[in-house]
Amino acid sequence: MLPEKILPLHIQILIALLLGSIFGIIFKIDYHSINVKYSDHDFIRQSREINNWDTITVFINEGAEKYAFSNNEVYLLRQKIKKHINEKDRVDILINYHEKSEFLHNLQSISKDETIATQLKPLGTLFINLLTLIAIPLVIASLIIGASSLEDVKKLGKIGAKTLALYILTSIIAISIGLIIGNFVQPGMKVPYETSVRLMAEFQEETPINISEHFEINIFDFIVSIVPKNPINAMANGAMLQVVFFALIFGLTILFIDKSKANYVIGFFSGVSEIMIKMVQIIMKIAPIGVFALISATIAEFGYEILSTLIWYILAVLLGLVIHTFVTYSLVVKFIGRYKILDFFRNLRTAQIIGFSSSSSAATLPITFDCVENKIGVPKSVSGFILPLGATINMDGTALYQGVAAVFIAQVYGLDLNISQQLTILLTALLASIGTAPVPGVGIIMLVIILESINIPAQGIALILGVDRLLDMARTVTNITGDAAVCVAIAGSEKMITKKEY
Ligand code: ASP
Repeated sequence: MLPEKILPLHIQILIALLLGSIFGIIFKIDYHSINVKYSDHDFIRQSREINNWDTITVFINEGAEKYAFSNNEVYLLRQKIKKHINEKDRVDILINYHEKSEFLHNLQSISKDETIATQLKPLGTLFINLLTLIAIPLVIASLIIGASSLEDVKKLGKIGAKTLALYILTSIIAISIGLIIGNFVQPGMKVPYETSVRLMAEFQEETPINISEHFEINIFDFIVSIVPKNPINAMANGAMLQVVFFALIFGLTILFIDKSKANYVIGFFSGVSEIMIKMVQIIMKIAPIGVFALISATIAEFGYEILSTLIWYILAVLLGLVIHTFVTYSLVVKFIGRYKILDFFRNLRTAQIIGFSSSSSAATLPITFDCVENKIGVPKSVSGFILPLGATINMDGTALYQGVAAVFIAQVYGLDLNISQQLTILLTALLASIGTAPVPGVGIIMLVIILESINIPAQGIALILGVDRLLDMARTVTNITGDAAVCVAIAGSEKMITKKEY
């Protein structure tokens, strides 16, 4: 970490991102190497790293069941051993190397390789936790001061209606882009049959298909769920939409109480807001270290072999995200917000990099606030309301990705989607993205609902699970950019942006 005068922070973070990626590639884990804990002949616990093996035969309960795995079936091997260890079965393995073989008895655990890059992960998690802890108090304080400083409630109503309309419109555009690209590129047609069978076998056990029951979409239940029974509970659970609702009515009600008492409350929350913003600025000083650790661990853990098998799918999603991020949002910022496109992207880049490294819109929220308020000059009364709402309900990147993914899985299954099925995807992806929590990896869980709505087997998710982390990073950047773009558009259209020197 260098002083900002020598090198601006966003450049430091960008360098950390690049160096972290290189570090992750150099110290990537060897997927074929596994760590096991077992008992030796004297029943003493040992641990071992197994490398360069050709085949491993697994014996369950002294040979009652027996499975053989070759070196490129390491994922299945790990799953099988884990499952039997969890079921408290006795597991022995026979390892065959090129010229010798050996027996290991009574396995107690099996884990992946570790490298210096994956060992850095806690540093990255620490950074994300520090940001996430700021999000809720910052949202509450900004929203309360924002709402209480609006001269009239009508204005809030107008801004609220415009915001919702824009959030929904941009999400519909995002899903349409996803569907068009999915139909045009046809990534599912380019996956060989054997590859799809292998992917299904490897990732099936991790597929979140059982979770779908908890996520039935019902618009009325959704509206009712916005009103928390207990605001403290909502804060404790990070239920952002409920927190926004509570803070908003709290802030608005301040307008109706005695001025002398109102001033105390406003003064208190202004102080809280200042403290939170200062905390973000202090935490951001370690952002280069946090980003380095996050990205190097992710890159080191990523299974590269799968990249080439799903390359068309990955490219289709990325193409859609790039178009939506740089074309749709540019139009929104320019023509609705009357704000310069280049300035918008330049001022937002720190939030985008943090979003990319963390895959979490919620953790990035304090940085998005900082960029939108302090660099672009959107007043708190607008951003305090629009950004948290967006982080919760506006997930264009996720919705776009869900569109491509649904078409891709249908294509692999050899199913032709007709127009009415594609419209169903549009509607369910819109609702599912509203219900997606702003944390890593939730988009793929919500995909289950979309697949079920058009009768595609949800197990198909196994096909894309292996590359989800990478696409999660990319779609989170779009999610964050979308929130900021709508915020700038609304503030600009209301002539409320106080442009600041950058
Ligand atoms: N990680 C995404 C976000 O936080 C959500 C998702 O698509 O999984 O915005």
